[in-house]
Amino acid sequence: MEDNYQDVLSKYYKFKAKYEEQYNVAKNKIKKKNLSKEAKSEMIRNLKRKCVNCEGEGGMLFTNEGRILKGICNAKKPCKFNIELNVERCVDIKLDLEKERDNLEEIMSDIIIRKLHLLFELEDEEVTIDEFNKLKPEYFEIKAMVDDAEEYMDNAKKMRDPETNDLVYRSEMYKKINLQLKNNITEFKDNLKKSYLSEVQNQKKAFLKDAMDIYVTKILNDQKFLRDIKYKYCDVEKTQVEIVDKQTGQTSTKNFNVMVQKEFLQKDINYTRENGGVVSNIYDVSI
Ligand SMILES: [Zn+2]
Repeated sequence: MEDNYQDVLSKYYKFKAKYEEQYNVAKNKIKKKNLSKEAKSEMIRNLKRKCVNCEGEGGMLFTNEGRILKGICNAKKPCKFNIELNVERCVDIKLDLEKERDNLEEIMSDIIIRKLHLLFELEDEEVTIDEFNKLKPEYFEIKAMVDDAEEYMDNAKKMRDPETNDLVYRSEMYKKINLQLKNNITEFKDNLKKSYLSEVQNQKKAFLKDAMDIYVTKILNDQKFLRDIKYKYCDVEKTQVEIVDKQTGQTSTKNFNVMVQKEFLQKDINYTRENGGVVSNIYDVSI
């Protein structure tokens, strides 16, 4: 099937959200009525949920079991609405690495034991050499994988020093710039103090100008750089949010500014092992 996984996944959540939203709108309408609490909850209990796709009474079923997302129509005469996805799996490389290291150690001790057996002729020599040779490729295969993963993780922790262009650890760079920032703040305060204490007008201005220069050219840069080191991505993003008017049930779209900070390493170290797949993507209404 050539349906795009991300597109279908987003469709699935849109249908699910719309289904919930319809229910919430209906519930809120009842809550606003001038009735007793009991009468209201009775009405809410009796609400007939409708399928978003065919409007059939009985609603829909959305399930998330065993990494399968499935949405179907639950009306008495169900429509053909059917979205089913195999959810992609992200593996934490750190956990994976630990498992492989254990595995590697096991193979290593196996090899050593077999070597000892060979030395002391405890087993039939040919059998031992055979088994020893069988283990070797597996050992090197896993070792290469562990080395790769370690290198990958190590590189993710490094960055280029803008001054020397050397690869350095982010944590070291952070310490260095943080110290630089502290010194610049001290210098900034010194100049402010000198300006404040000076009796000569020209000197007062000169110290103040120096302080401002330090602030603009050094302190702000240091702060920005520190953010860059810590956060790979730090920006204001516009995001569209659908807003449902609780009274009319009408939807409108609004733009919101959201400060996005994604901490470095978290996203980069996770990687996808199993891709997601679309099993079924059937619906009639546009959403
Ligand atoms: Zn339906």
